[in-house]
Amino acid sequence: MSKKKLGLNTICTHIGEIKDEQFKGAISPIYLSTSYQFDNVDVKRYPRYFNTPNQEHLVKKIAALEHTEDALIFASGMAAISHMFLAFLQKGDHLVVQNTLYGGATNFIREEFSKYGIEYTFTDGYDVSDFEAAIQPNTKLIHIETPSNPLLTITDIKAIASLAKSKGILSSIDNTFASPINQNPIDFGIDLVMHSATKYLGGHSDILAGAVAGSKEHIERIWNVGKNLGGSLSDFTVWMLERSMKTLTLRVKAQTKNAKKLAQFLDNHSAIAKVNYPGLKHHPQHELAKSQMHDFGAMLSFELVEGIDAMAFQNQLNLIKSSMSLAGVESTMLLPAETSHALLTQDERDAVGISNQLIRFSVGIETFRDLKNDIKQALIKIKTASCA
Ligand SMILES: *Cc1c(COP(=O)(O)O)cnc(C)c1O
Repeated sequence: MSKKKLGLNTICTHIGEIKDEQFKGAISPIYLSTSYQFDNVDVKRYPRYFNTPNQEHLVKKIAALEHTEDALIFASGMAAISHMFLAFLQKGDHLVVQNTLYGGATNFIREEFSKYGIEYTFTDGYDVSDFEAAIQPNTKLIHIETPSNPLLTITDIKAIASLAKSKGILSSIDNTFASPINQNPIDFGIDLVMHSATKYLGGHSDILAGAVAGSKEHIERIWNVGKNLGGSLSDFTVWMLERSMKTLTLRVKAQTKNAKKLAQFLDNHSAIAKVNYPGLKHHPQHELAKSQMHDFGAMLSFELVEGIDAMAFQNQLNLIKSSMSLAGVESTMLLPAETSHALLTQDERDAVGISNQLIRFSVGIETFRDLKNDIKQALIKIKTASCA
């Protein structure tokens, strides 16, 4: 059976399952052993070596979804990012990294890189020319994140991959926001794809995990770092993640469908000043998004008009919860100015386009009508309150 020919739902349901030879159960057994009989020096099974049965099998599903030869799963998305950076960057090397980057990754670079003697440049923007301008003679890796958080800007994956290749530099991407259902960066020449599996791959807000996918050679380099750093995932969580990923396609497609409708609804609402969603025709990079994404994803952000207090609006929502995390089956909202970007000054936030009116929206699988009605009633309540 060629993996390429299998449909997404089949990959999610079946690739990487462990056959239960003993009892013929329908699902993969879970192997919690930290100790395995040592009778073959080539297979020293040990959880920290990323080679327990559950770990070895689940990476096949992730690799199949991301069109790569291999993958590794980690204890968090940050473990995936840090292992990837530390595997390909050493003392004296330089990283070019997109300025609009996940906050945890930004902190990792700013707080840890100098200890290793690794240099870095955050780009001024997300155009290819911004990346090209940041390249140094010792640049070894270019790292991008698209769609970005929380403004949903789009970086040209193919152009970045070509730029990197032309200079003999590796390229990597944080593919968390799109998920492998909506974007496969490997097909555009990117070398390494990472995910916070805490988000769409897990999808139920109950798993902390991460993954990197790439060629066998690259994954082996990351493995070499990983066995030393010791950030592998518990097999119980690996098994949970396998169970979650069976419905990945169904969930992400339902979430994306809702997001498209909600983006349209918000775009037409008089209380909303602006909607950032790559699926909207007026998104500045709508055509680029269309050319590199299978679909536009389930993350969006919007700005309330001046005079409507964003926090008060959030407090009036009944169904949609406010939450720091994202990508669960339940819809959640967050105020970047109060949470992810709270440590920046007002001026710094203005410079990156994060206003106090901005709300990030992770769209879930609920019935569209109920989500729409929840937003409608909150806006009515808040308007009535501000007129009174
Ligand atoms: C959450 C997130 C991460 C970090 O993942 P953890 O699982 O929280 O360590 C990295 N990148 C993006 C885009 C994220 O949303």
